Amino acid sequence: MTYESGDFKLHPYPWQATQWQRLCAQKATEKLSHAYLLKGARGTGKFSFATAFAGYVLCSQPEGEAACGHCKNCNLFRSGSHPDLRILQPEEKSRIIKVDQVREVIEFASKTAQQGGYRVIIINPAEAMNSNSANALLKSLEEPGEKTLILLVSARQGAMLATINSRCQQLPFPLPARQESLEWLGGLSNVEPGELELLLTLADGQPLTALQFANDQILKERARLIEEIGSVTKGKNSPMEIAQRWKDQDVTQLLGWVSGWLADIVRMQQTGDATTLSNPDLAAMASYIGSKASSRSLFELLQWVNEQRALSQGSANLNRHLMLEELLIRWLHLTLG
Ligand SMILES: [Zn+2]
Repeated sequence: MTYESGDFKLHPYPWQATQWQRLCAQKATEKLSHAYLLKGARGTGKFSFATAFAGYVLCSQPEGEAACGHCKNCNLFRSGSHPDLRILQPEEKSRIIKVDQVREVIEFASKTAQQGGYRVIIINPAEAMNSNSANALLKSLEEPGEKTLILLVSARQGAMLATINSRCQQLPFPLPARQESLEWLGGLSNVEPGELELLLTLADGQPLTALQFANDQILKERARLIEEIGSVTKGKNSPMEIAQRWKDQDVTQLLGWVSGWLADIVRMQQTGDATTLSNPDLAAMASYIGSKASSRSLFELLQWVNEQRALSQGSANLNRHLMLEELLIRWLHLTLG
């Protein structure tokens, strides 16, 4: 995960107004805590909120509850090079925030801010700290330097050390209301109005994930995969051929989609109600396969897909080609009864 200068926005997202006002009010009354845990669903912009609040805290002439955007501090902030801001995240190709990285920011926190104000440390994602890193940070959390603000960002609070958790003020970020996300997405030029609903559904209601999907033209890719999986069901292509074609596919995402399609087939089979589907555009396919497959074979495949997906996210060395081929063979057998 990397950040770009585009991440250094001055304002929070519209659905973060409550959390923003809460921190601004604390700042105004000089009651800012030294550490916050920004927690909640992925794809809602918690990291962006953290950087925006850092920008506000660092700004030398804030206007109301926002950074001015043009003072020296704001310019440094927006270029991603403010000397009093540190962003701690896994280094390239690593999933872990290492203890040396933590020690370096603790050292940073012990010095006086170069611009005379706050020093801000953002840790993203906080659960990427291993126990050594987390323990190194603990001391800083217990004895924070003056005017040090630490913002920890996490979508997996349960994976964090409890002792870290308990030393932070909790700042929850629930998933925004669907309508609010749709309105925000609808105002963006790169999202097709007709695709809004489906994009947000596929993104599990996470507005920024939906935007990412739009940018990546994910609906086109999904349509291609559906067509290819259909070509196996129809006997036009062998599982081996399609598995070969999928060799560069993001397997975790693919398995996530297949898992969702299977869950929809189960729903269709049990309720016959297309309005409950997570993939409403695939109702016809769900209905067809649901009429052919036994519920037992559906559940078995669903379980297998979820297991493979978990494996693909871990460090296990997965034989992707074999796994994809098995997936397609199993899918084919669903409709063969
Ligand atoms: Zn400013």
